[in-house]
Amino acid sequence: MTTALFREDSYLQSCTGVVTSTSEQGFCVDQTVFYPLGGGQPGDTGTASWDQKKIVVVGTQNSADGIVHIIEPGDAVPPVGSTVELTLDWDRRFAHMRMHTALHLLGSILKYGVTGGNISAIKSRLDFDTEDSVDKESVSAALNALVAANHSVQCRWISEQELDENPSLVRTMSVQPPRGKGDIRLLEIESVDLQPCGGTHVRSTGEIGAIRIGKVEKKGRRNRRVNIHFAD
Ligand SMILES: [Zn+2]
Repeated sequence: MTTALFREDSYLQSCTGVVTSTSEQGFCVDQTVFYPLGGGQPGDTGTASWDQKKIVVVGTQNSADGIVHIIEPGDAVPPVGSTVELTLDWDRRFAHMRMHTALHLLGSILKYGVTGGNISAIKSRLDFDTEDSVDKESVSAALNALVAANHSVQCRWISEQELDENPSLVRTMSVQPPRGKGDIRLLEIESVDLQPCGGTHVRSTGEIGAIRIGKVEKKGRRNRRVNIHFAD
């Protein structure tokens, strides 16, 4: 398996890793800063270098062998046992971190069940389980106020036993934690949101920058899709 360094520090932009397996698609390493596709967040892109060779990593996803760094067809794959330098396309990833954190804020304002979501560096969205109409102006004002308030954002791990001993903590979570999969990673936006999440986030909401609410789409009787964009 691959140690996911981004779970402890999402600001790491590069690392070295030892190649543990290869395939036509790409390679796995013992540790990486590349986030794999999941939870609505795209897999990271960037480069891998070894022995004066440098290739592009076009995507990242989970597999039975660990986190696969997907390469372009025809590119040389680093051999098993070699040490590679992995470097993120940081501008793209940082945009994902800002968007991902902004979606937590959006979910804290529109307190409906979330049935889907998607993140990109350009725009992102959440699908809410509701028939209510969404007032773009008031949501936009509330969201940008949470950004401007610069709330701290922190991740921590908690065991199922600790959760069982703190029913009030579970009650405050906007999404219920998964059970039976070991320790749970919690994302806390101070005095705004607490929920289980495995994604990458910024350290404080001010780093998100101004957000513009885009289209609000009616995707069925009980589904309102809210799109967000960076204002800049
Ligand atoms: Zn998250």
